[in-house]
Amino acid sequence: MDIPIQGSGNTAGRSLNEACGVIALAERIPVSYRLVQSLRIIQHRGQESAGIALSGKKGVVVVKGMGLANEVFSGKKLDEESFSGIGHIRYSTAGSSVIDNAQPLYAKIKNIDIAVGHNGEIANASEIKEELENKGYSFITNSDTEVIMKLISIELSRDTDPIRAMQNTFKKLIGAYSLALIINGRIFAVRDPNAIRPLSIGRTGFGYGASSEDIVFYQLGGEPIRDVNPGEIVEIKESGFLSYHIEEPRKPAHCMFEYVYFARPDSTLDGKNVFLVRKNIGRVLARENPVEADLVIPVPDSGRSHALGYAEESGIPFVEGLIKNRYVDRTFIMPEQKGRENELDIKLNPIKEIVEGKRLVLVDDSIVRGNTMKKIVRLLRERGAKEVHVRIGSPPIIAPCYLGIDMKTRSQFIASGKSLEEISRDIEADSLAYLSLNGLIESIGLPEDNLCLGCLTGIYPVKIKNEKYRGY
Ligand code: SF4
Repeated sequence: MDIPIQGSGNTAGRSLNEACGVIALAERIPVSYRLVQSLRIIQHRGQESAGIALSGKKGVVVVKGMGLANEVFSGKKLDEESFSGIGHIRYSTAGSSVIDNAQPLYAKIKNIDIAVGHNGEIANASEIKEELENKGYSFITNSDTEVIMKLISIELSRDTDPIRAMQNTFKKLIGAYSLALIINGRIFAVRDPNAIRPLSIGRTGFGYGASSEDIVFYQLGGEPIRDVNPGEIVEIKESGFLSYHIEEPRKPAHCMFEYVYFARPDSTLDGKNVFLVRKNIGRVLARENPVEADLVIPVPDSGRSHALGYAEESGIPFVEGLIKNRYVDRTFIMPEQKGRENELDIKLNPIKEIVEGKRLVLVDDSIVRGNTMKKIVRLLRERGAKEVHVRIGSPPIIAPCYLGIDMKTRSQFIASGKSLEEISRDIEADSLAYLSLNGLIESIGLPEDNLCLGCLTGIYPVKIKNEKYRGY
């Protein structure tokens, strides 16, 4: 697949946006290096910047920088006296690739000490910001995370209780937010009332924590406990956690895209293991869209689990016919289309001896713009493939995402206003088929009304201006 994930920050002139990964830890041992390790575990959620905020005797100390967690923290001497803190990794789109936008964001205002890491996107951030500016509040960045931080700070200036400050703030927000926060030395994790982006809590071996993906807990020597509930505020302590609620939880609307593409396959989100969901997708895809072929080939790495399922169900042998250069970053981190195309030239290469003369089923998780898929189909033909039948493990993406994935304009989607035959012709495939919407829901195994399917249906779980609202 070939989409960028949005980031936050000083995106002057562009939409306010977020995505990424968050971590919060409270332990009996210093957490600085363990926060960095955690960020490395969820590095796939964003590669543009990484940061940690440590809460200790000296107050909050923030260390952040551009690049992968390895690059940002390698060789850096970190504070080893802080026993709690939060971490964030970020992806952003063009123009906002600057250190100012790296998170956690931090503010010290009188007796308020606050740091915030955010995964998601606040759909009404511009309106709130304008309202606050009209009241005389100023902003340093153009980030929706700063809007959250400002609202909490305003509440705290009236009432020092952080739970009430957060409850009052979150009632004003529309959108997706999984947050890690430090407020006056206390550590919190928050999930929006629709639980759109993932967030789980767990034991870490030396205490407790929250993470965008639950695999972190195993790798820190502990285990996951559960997902953070819709609309839940969790205070994380070294000895356990306390739970509060923003308001009556609404119906969950977990992003289907986390299952299809974004999350790690070894993660379990809201009770469903991502690898198994993807394999189910492949199986259903094979049942819905069979084709006579010699080999099933995945687009690595995103289409691998889907392709395994397709091969198992169809009985067609699975072969790694495309080899990925592991030292080239995921294409979606390139901020410009030109960069993405150049990256692909060195990122994937077919094995001529495998594909030559063969009828191939090429399986990927999704198609957004279609440029990447077209290039791959061409590459396979150049190496002698006889037929290339493309099978996609999600329904066509036809509508924008306002909740954290960078798909903003309908015109960017290859499926927008085109027939299947036209798309197939565009990507130069012998045939093309997508998973059905029902097939996707069946594969995830959660009720349809517990999922966000906005970019597939144009109907959203939260009220978005000029878009259809699903109304429950
Ligand atoms: S619109 Fe699509 S990508 Fe965005 S949150 Fe909903 S399902 Fe996920």
